[in-house]
Amino acid sequence: MNKKKFNTRVIHEGQIPEKEFGSVSKPIYQTSTFKQEEFGKYIYDYSRAGNPTRTDLETNIASLEDGDGAVMFGSGLAAISAIFTLLKTGDHIISNYNVYGGTFRLIDKILLKMGVNVSWVDTSSIDEIKSALSSNTKMILIETPTNPMMQLTDIAEVASFAKNNNILSVIDNTFMSPYCQRPLNLGIDLVVHSTTKYINGHSDVIGGVVVSKDKALLEELHFIQMSVGAVPGPFDCWLTQRAIKTLALRMKAHNHNAMIIAKELESNAKVDKVYYPGLKSHPQHELARKQQIDPDGNSVFGGMISIDLLDADKAAKFVKNLQLFILAESLGGVESLVCHPASMTHASIPEDIRKKIGLSDGLVRLSVGIEHPDDLLEDIKSALKNI
Ligand code: PLP
Repeated sequence: MNKKKFNTRVIHEGQIPEKEFGSVSKPIYQTSTFKQEEFGKYIYDYSRAGNPTRTDLETNIASLEDGDGAVMFGSGLAAISAIFTLLKTGDHIISNYNVYGGTFRLIDKILLKMGVNVSWVDTSSIDEIKSALSSNTKMILIETPTNPMMQLTDIAEVASFAKNNNILSVIDNTFMSPYCQRPLNLGIDLVVHSTTKYINGHSDVIGGVVVSKDKALLEELHFIQMSVGAVPGPFDCWLTQRAIKTLALRMKAHNHNAMIIAKELESNAKVDKVYYPGLKSHPQHELARKQQIDPDGNSVFGGMISIDLLDADKAAKFVKNLQLFILAESLGGVESLVCHPASMTHASIPEDIRKKIGLSDGLVRLSVGIEHPDDLLEDIKSALKNI
């Protein structure tokens, strides 16, 4: 049978109606353990090692990323930590200094202590990546677009560099979701998501996932999942499974709304800079058009926008004036959120690095939701008027 389209798979993969009563919405296997017929005869034995509700979600997400399997974790950072446990003392990794603040903290405060070294580079430059390469380099971790500067890295170029040098390539695809970008098809080894964001999309579950086409790597990650034990509970998996069914619809609305708002922001004199890859003024707009492709083949740009209002006071006033955009950590939910990265998501990044990447105290990050764009536009315009 031909592979079904993304919008069909997002609803049906891993969702074959349950056998006993034919329940279309599959039951939650809310159990820690399973009856064994005899010694060693079972499908599942213990929910840390495996659980049917979790397997269903893993099957679904693997299909959306065009992977061969997926491994769920209790949070996005648990998923990234699991990937790091593939490393050993003395190894070296290359990453972007503009990664999510929590990922930076995990590397800076924990991984370094374990004797793994890191080179922080601007991964949008292949030359910087090349010059960081050393004989013990084992992994390159990228985010594209980055959080919150919306800087892009050429995924295919990094994947091919990694292959040629026998390095594992890893991408955090949280900002795009598999609807907008499928990096495994561009040669990346491991895709990680904070499913807390677009994949779940309702701001009510924390979760993470790693997806790959490489069976040996997946096996190793399943072993890490079971051995380290940072697993999500069945109910969280079920909620995420329920929410993912509307991923295609939600992402279409996020993309549509964000483009409208980005254009308005760009023409507003109160805004110094707008960072959105969908704008022609974005320095990597052409790269975004090339690698951010929806399942129907259209270039798409996601729901995240950052703006620079030049100083912290103006940023604070703007945020206070907003009525619909809620001041909160996180992103990718149906409701629009606003955040001040310098004091919130990226507070753990040292000030000099924040300055270096252009993350000023006047920077505000918008996670554009799926409300009616007219209302969002009105909210933004009137909030800016009074700063
Ligand atoms: N990656 C990105 C890009 C994020 O924005 C976040 C959280 O904001 C994470 C990873 C961490 O995910 P979690 O909060 O689910 O641990």
